[in-house]
Amino acid sequence: MKNYSLYHPAKSLAAKLIIAIGVIMTVGSFIFWYALSYKQEKDLMAIALKYGSSFIDYIKDSTSHSMLTFQRDAIQYTLENISIAEGVEKVKIFDHKGRVFFSSRKEDVGGLVNKKSISCEGCHIEPETSSVLIQNPQKWTVYKGRDFRVLKIVEPIPNNPSCYTAKCHVHPPEQKILGFVEADLSLALLDKAKFRQGLALTGYVFIFIVAISVSLGIILYNFVSKPVSQLKQGMEKIAAGDFDYSVPVMTEDEIGVLATAFNLMTKDIKAARRQQERWTQSLEEEVKKKTEEIQKTHAGLLQTEKLSSLGRMAAGVAHEINNPLTGIVTFAHLMLKRLPPESEDAEDLKVIIEQAERCAKIIRGLLTFSRATPSEKGSVAINELLSRTIYMVKNQEKFHNIKFDITIDSRQSFTTLGDASQIQQIFLNMLINAADAMNERGTVTIATRRITADDKPFVEIEFADTGCGIPEEHLDKLFEPFFTTKPVGKGTGLGLSVSHGIVKNYGGSMLVKSTIGKGASFFIRLPLEEEKV
Ligand code: ADP
Repeated sequence: MKNYSLYHPAKSLAAKLIIAIGVIMTVGSFIFWYALSYKQEKDLMAIALKYGSSFIDYIKDSTSHSMLTFQRDAIQYTLENISIAEGVEKVKIFDHKGRVFFSSRKEDVGGLVNKKSISCEGCHIEPETSSVLIQNPQKWTVYKGRDFRVLKIVEPIPNNPSCYTAKCHVHPPEQKILGFVEADLSLALLDKAKFRQGLALTGYVFIFIVAISVSLGIILYNFVSKPVSQLKQGMEKIAAGDFDYSVPVMTEDEIGVLATAFNLMTKDIKAARRQQERWTQSLEEEVKKKTEEIQKTHAGLLQTEKLSSLGRMAAGVAHEINNPLTGIVTFAHLMLKRLPPESEDAEDLKVIIEQAERCAKIIRGLLTFSRATPSEKGSVAINELLSRTIYMVKNQEKFHNIKFDITIDSRQSFTTLGDASQIQQIFLNMLINAADAMNERGTVTIATRRITADDKPFVEIEFADTGCGIPEEHLDKLFEPFFTTKPVGKGTGLGLSVSHGIVKNYGGSMLVKSTIGKGASFFIRLPLEEEKV
């Protein structure tokens, strides 16, 4: 089985997506958080400035009467009272030169304001040396107090007509600004509120990130990780040879399509495997069949070898017997001549001569058939050779119960070019097969006739029997070497193939017709050399 350890949940697609989206969301949330905090600070400062400005207006209004009536103590008293309110750090009124005339802290009265502070630098470029004004004066600043930040706001006290028309006539009408009110206001409340809001915002952002990450994780697990791990499991099963396993198809998206494709692929592999198994099985069967055929062929070859040795032996024996038989016949004839023709001994001698001649004829037939090397091709008179062959077999026991129905026109010899012994071998084979098919009991019909095929003259020799017939499925195998239905030792399966080979060699052909249970007919066609009438 393959090793799939390369896959690790931490390296999975879902994990990568969660990490990537988590990082993007954290950075995005931080930017959002920062922008919101910045805006909040700005808004709060705007509110603080508005209230600071209102506070200074309130001081101006509260002290204007005292100023017009030139009641210095009342002004000082008002400032001290106002600074009691929560969030008011200190309040000062100072002139152009920075001299403090009134202050909520008595000890500051008569002193100078810090030239480096916004009170001077807010309007003057170099407050120590020159009185040149800044174009857009800065009226406020925020500095760090003891515990909280403090807003310092400075506003000018304009020289209103009520001022320069007042009885005191302290200021001429040309003077635009009489002095400045400076208020230091604590931003403690705002900072506390801002801190609480910042804390809440951070909490919400954190909860938001966690909630999104968890939801994303669940979604990715269900839609990506789980189906992918099921696919992986499927692949492991297939690798282990379990082709019945199919991956559940939960969705119609890309993963669903992938799962469907995977299941189809599994089915195809299963079918291909079955096909392969079938092929293997049929191959095994084919190998078995061929092995049997080879074994049969081997047995057939052995049998042929045996038969050919037997044939050679029979030829030798026949040759040996032929000479004494000739002697017997010759001497019997001599004796017959010496005896009176009507005597009983002469009759007996005639029987001896007749039987001995019959033996000699059989022996001659055997010798012709078993001739080892084929003789030179010559003219063979088919009708004559066929009659001789029939005569030869008729004397054998195998054919004693067989009736021969012979239709041979003795006026025609049907001459063909070939080896007589080979052609006789074919005839003998036909007759032996017919006898076997009829269990040595029945009728063999033998006929010769002239036919024309492809405009050429042929002699057709027919051997028809009343035997078992040949099954349809055997017909196309009949002429194959070693095809036999006969028991081992009886049939070699060579007869028809050798006969067919000889006939083809002579330019002829062999045909077979058969009806199961009724018999078989073999037709041998050989080219006619010439017609002798
Ligand atoms: P063998 O006779 O040794 O079997 P053959 O080649 O002569 O070999 O014959 C092959 C087979 O053809 C026989 O085994 C038999 O099954 C079939 N066959 C041949 N002649 C006939 C016939 N006249 N009737 C029925 N079957 C026949």
